Amino acid sequence: MDHNKVRMHLSALKDGELNENLRDPIVRHLQSCDSCREELNEFERIDSTLRGLPEISVSKTFVSEILARTQAAKPTRHWKSIVVRRIADRFFLLAASVSEVFLGYGPQTTGSLDEFGDFPPYSLGHVYFSLISR
Ligand SMILES: [Zn+2]
Repeated sequence: MDHNKVRMHLSALKDGELNENLRDPIVRHLQSCDSCREELNEFERIDSTLRGLPEISVSKTFVSEILARTQAAKPTRHWKSIVVRRIADRFFLLAASVSEVFLGYGPQTTGSLDEFGDFPPYSLGHVYFSLISR
């Protein structure tokens, strides 16, 4: 198994989500590949760091505040722009799937935590992070 295929499944391996047909070749690869083993160690360090963060307590109205802000922030858009956006979203999903199937890897990400702050305006994630960062 090559490095890219192994790395695609490291998070699932770490979480015990792989069946043995996929897990065993990856484990064998890790026994002989320092760079992939280091990548797995990095996942484990990130998990450990996240588990060590203090829990955030939120008010009992937190969920209803999120829903209210999401509804209030929802822009009124023309139906054509919504259709174009949905078609574009489906196209990019399809392109990512094709790339994963035929090329063996999906869209590249930085894999860093700054991705969590990169939500489009008016999305649920944007509202959620704006609420917890108050
Ligand atoms: Zn490797």
